[in-house]
Amino acid sequence: MSTLEIKNLHASVETPEGTKQILKGVDLTINSGETHAIMGPNGSGKSTLAYSLAGHPKYEITEGSVTLDGEDVLAMSVDERAKAGMFLAMQYPVEVPGVSVSNFLRTAKTAIDGEAPRLRTWVKDVKKSMDDLRMDSSFAERNVNEGFSGGEKKRHEILQMELLAPKIAVLDETDSGLDVDALRIVSEGVNRVKDNTGLGIMLITHYTRILKYIQPDFVHVFVNGQIAEQGGREARRPPRGRGLRPLPGFRVRNP
Ligand code: ADP
Ligand code: MG
Ligand code: MG
Repeated sequence: MSTLEIKNLHASVETPEGTKQILKGVDLTINSGETHAIMGPNGSGKSTLAYSLAGHPKYEITEGSVTLDGEDVLAMSVDERAKAGMFLAMQYPVEVPGVSVSNFLRTAKTAIDGEAPRLRTWVKDVKKSMDDLRMDSSFAERNVNEGFSGGEKKRHEILQMELLAPKIAVLDETDSGLDVDALRIVSEGVNRVKDNTGLGIMLITHYTRILKYIQPDFVHVFVNGQIAEQGGREARRPPRGRGLRPLPGFRVRNP
């Protein structure tokens, strides 16, 4: 059982116009086995939350804390965060020139576990996961994210997530740019990992359609760098906003 605890998180970014405060006090706790959907309008700071958790150097944490099972995540390097069990799939994944998917996965797994995976089981695990995600075996020899379609990038993210077996995963717009078939395959992958490993998930999304396939236990609505509304399972059902409770100082947008 793991717990990611975000308390009063503030983050800013340097822009040509000066320092811009983006996160303005985020409180959120994610336990193993829980799926938390983060919704909210474009520009409300959802990706900034993901980048802040990932340790992206552009985002400065100016106040607040993040702990994973009591350990200070903000004091960790990006590698240490992964080793501690955080998985962060970014909205705009980067290309890794000249490194095949297969090598990338094995290197990441070795770094995270502190030892190389046993070859026989590893090859079997990779194949199983790729089959489940309906990925052709030739995919393993392609270079990471080079010329990947939107759907391939997302499947590759879920493949990584399944093989690296994190405690907490942050998925930023895993649904964007996917057709219905790809959305279903990717969602099934997330659900499979969740069921098999008891992963805790922060599912950041701009749209509600993925919530038909991945059922969140909690819904949080982001507005202007803070969580403005929260709800349980009932909040994911239409009419949109039903079951969401405004936090003190906020009003419900869709009463
Ligand atoms: P969301 O993911 O909810 O669409 P973002 O976190 O991407 O929101 O952005 C929140 C706000 O912060 C936006 O106004 C955006 O323009 C600004 N912002 C985010 N990252 C940067 C950056 N690196 N430089 C300048 N402004 C940024
Ligand atoms: Mg955006
Ligand atoms: Mg975003």
